[in-house]
Formats: sequence, C-alpha cells, structure tokens
Amino acid sequence: MSDPVLVLFRNDRRVADNGALAAAADTGRPVVAAFVLDEESDGVRPSGGAARWWLHHSLAALTEKLEALGVPLVLRRGGTTLVVEDLIAETGAKTVLWNRRHHPAGVAIDMQLKHSLRGRGLRADSFDGQLLHEPSRLATKTGGYYKVFTPFWNALASGPEPRDPIDAPGPMTGFGGELPSERLNDLVPLPTSPDWAEGLRETWIPGEDGAMELLDYFLSEDIAGYEANRDFPGIAGTSRLSPHLAHGEITPYQIFAALKHKAVGSSGAAKFRKELGWREFCAHLLFHNPDLTTRNFQPAFDVFPWNSDEDALQAWQKGQTGYPIVDAGMRELWRTGTMHNRVRMIVASFLTKHLLIDWREGERWFWDTLVDADPASNPANWQWVAGSGADAAPYFRIFNPVLQGEKFDPEGDYVRFFVPELEQLPSRFLHKPWLAPASVLAEAGIMLGRDYPLPVVDHSKGRERALAAYRSTRGSGE
Ligand code: FAD
Repeated sequence: MSDPVLVLFRNDRRVADNGALAAAADTGRPVVAAFVLDEESDGVRPSGGAARWWLHHSLAALTEKLEALGVPLVLRRGGTTLVVEDLIAETGAKTVLWNRRHHPAGVAIDMQLKHSLRGRGLRADSFDGQLLHEPSRLATKTGGYYKVFTPFWNALASGPEPRDPIDAPGPMTGFGGELPSERLNDLVPLPTSPDWAEGLRETWIPGEDGAMELLDYFLSEDIAGYEANRDFPGIAGTSRLSPHLAHGEITPYQIFAALKHKAVGSSGAAKFRKELGWREFCAHLLFHNPDLTTRNFQPAFDVFPWNSDEDALQAWQKGQTGYPIVDAGMRELWRTGTMHNRVRMIVASFLTKHLLIDWREGERWFWDTLVDADPASNPANWQWVAGSGADAAPYFRIFNPVLQGEKFDPEGDYVRFFVPELEQLPSRFLHKPWLAPASVLAEAGIMLGRDYPLPVVDHSKGRERALAAYRSTRGSGE
C-alpha cells in the first residue's frame, strides 16, 4: 500500500474548509489524522479551564466527523516535533500537512518542523484558513506592519475578495495499522469535583455543526439589526461565533462566503465584516509583537503605578464590586464562559481604571474563564481598553459604570438575569442601588452590604485616582 499522508490538527478542528485535509484527500493515499496537544514546546501558553472544556467537546465532535469520512483521529500529547517524528516512524508517512497558526509559539514550532522535514526530503506543506490575511505579508507602504486599525482594515478590505471555502472531502481511506491514541478524557479531562461546567453545557454546542447552526441563525434572524443591537447585552443580537472561530471550527472564509450569499444588502453585514477585521488586526499585532501578552505595547505604560489589591481583584473576579453592570458581566463570564463585548469593555475599564489593577491580571482571568480565549484578541483588547495598546482608547476616557449600565441595559434585563438579588429593584435605581431610598431597598428585599455589596470604590474618587496615576506617567519623560 502507498505511504500515508499525515494531517496535523491543532486549532483547526473542522473537516470543511480545511486546506490540509482536502490536500490529503486529493492525494488518494491513506490518511492519518492526529491531534497534537503540545504544552511542552517553548513559549506555548496552556489553555485555560473554560477553553479546555471546549477543547474536550470539540475533539469529540471532530472525531465523529472524521470517522464518518473513514479516518480515525489519533490523540497525542507532547512536543510537536517529537510527536510528528513518532508518527512518521510508526506509519512511514512521507507527507505531513497542516493549517497555519499565527501566534508566536505556533509559528516558531511549525517553521522549525517544516524546515526539518523538508531538509530530509519529506513533503511538508501548510495551508491558510484561520485568518483572511497573512500577517507577514500585509504591510504598510513603508514596509512595516499596521499599528492603527482603520488603515489596516482599508488595506485588507480593498484587497482581493476572500477565496471560496473548500468543501469537506468525501470518504477517504484511513491508515490500515493500529496507532496508539490517548483517551480523550485522559488528554483533556472534564471538570468533575466540582463540575463547574453546567452553564457552559447549557450555552454552547462545541464543534463545526454548532458553528454552522449559529451562523445560519445569525444570518437569518439577527444580521439586519446587528449594528443597532450589538451594544446591548440584554439583546441576543451578535453572532456568538467567537469560540468557534478561536477553536478553528469555522473559518472567516466560510463566514464571508455565507455573508455574500445570504446577507446581500443587509445593513449589518458591513459592520459585522469589520468586527471580524478586528480579529484579524489583533492577530496582526500579536504576530509582530510576540510579547503582547506580557508587555505594554506603549512603553510609556511601563512606569504606570498599578495597584496590587488582592481583595479588590477578588471582588471583581467574583462579581461582587457593588456595580451591577460590572457584576453581571463577571458572573456571566463565570457561568457561561463568555461575556458580551460591551460589558467586556466596561469590566476591563473598571479593573484598570477604578481599581487601578494591572491589565495583565484581567487578561489572565479572562484567559482562564473565556471559552473564546484567544492568544491575540485577549491581550490586544485588554491593552486597548487599558490605554497601553495599539490604536488604544485613551487612558483618560474612563467609563462610568452607572451611565454605561443605564445606556446599554436601560430596562436592566441583563443585570436582573445575572444578579438576581437585584431583580425587584426598580429600573431607575438598578444601576446605582446605593442611591435607592431605604424604603425602596426594603420593598425590593435588599439590604446593601448583606444581600448585595456596597461599591468597592466610589466612582468619582476612583476616576480621580486613575487620572492622577496617568498624569504621573506623563510626567516621567514620555
Ligand atoms: P460578534 O459581534 O458577532 O462579532 C463577530 C466576530 O468578530 C467575533 O466572533 C470575533 O471573532 C470578532 N470580533 C468582534 N469584536 C472583536 C474585537 N474587539 N476584537 C477581536 N475580534 C473581535 N474576543 C475573542 O475572540 N477572544 C478573546 O479572548 C477576547 N477577549 C477580549 C477581551 C476584552 C477585554 C475585550 C474588550 C474584548 C475581547 N474580545 C475577545 C473581543 C469581543 O468581545 C468578542 O470577540 C465578542 O464579544 C464575541 O462575541 P460574538 O462572537 O457574538 O461577536
């Protein structure tokens, strides 16, 4: 029998629009599909808890999809190069194919792998899919990378139309021999004691079928109102595709093609494309700034006097700050593994400005709790809100959590859902319960400080303290 083709799966857990899998099918040779959990190579950041829960289910879904095509999925753990060497030795494969990754550790591992395989006369090829652009190729007129979103997006949007998605292959021949494979629950165990994943199970269907269902629903129900509704956390008006994109269960090519076919003329489509442009921009920034997760993009922030206040950090993490919109967001995150984008901005601003806590603390918490935790979008957005990032919101623009709540959750549907102890409070006090008269609080069954916390920081004082901290960095030479 002819030598098999080895296809590596990492953050591309899909059979449709999978360039590497399609190329393997085209050879007509037997296919070995292997998922490699590499947490050992240099610079790799292990996934957080919520993303691991997703990974487990995503691998289960991919296994089913591949089995239906006649190819079992082999699960392995270890440094990518060593795992690939083992698989080559076990199967006699002379071709190794994969889809490109763009985060720094992944790029370094894959470049070294390609170099070493080709150096031995083996075929090693990589394919696009995860991004619409190649961060190494899209450059400004002076040859640098983009640091500002609008020119980046203009350059990307005025380029060639994204290619059509590649169809899932038909039935293939799997490798005939026995290959050892880790058990899914050993590779990525599900949480048991405690089982904190109930809210995640209720909210998500990991896997590419789940992604397609969401896309179809969004395009038929929500895209028309997307621009008007996307900022309101009480309205289910966004696509909720981010975890599927982060885990490579759907590609931006599939989304752009669906937009072209199903949402022509829809007013929300342009805005939605642009939001996907932010995802590309974040990946672009990370590619060119490998330490975006740990270092301020703007060095002026290196002397920023962050406050290390463990109690305040915990109050924020647990959704116990006394600011209802902040607490609703943090509780949504803990329960469902996601948080509405508007509220992500509010809670991030609250942490870095009102509490003066380093954005890296918030980034780490999100990394552990978000199902869509993304190595580029997470740090880039944290730095954007904190003011230290590329094309960032100026530090002195400080969200007022009361006004943000009143503007974007006017009836309080979102807060009432995630902070049920405030459910009976009239809307006019919902975002500032400490201003409600005692009789109103009593009627709503709330004693502040017992049933719901008093604010951990006074808004005006927190704001002044943040501005003073910011001014101190401006005085230090920048
Ligand atoms: P939609 O409104 O339907 O948007 C469609 C897609 O566009 C999203 O799925 C996402 O892929 C992309 N997108 C939208 N907004 C952004 C943005 N600001 N930056 C990058 N891509 C964007 N997104 C992540 O995918 N992973 C993260 O780890 C992450 N961390 C964040 C941290 C902070 C502090 C903030 C403020 C935002 C973060 N975001 C992150 C961006 C954004 O909040 C989510 O992508 C969005 O809420 C996902 O919901 P949706 O799929 O319904 O979005």
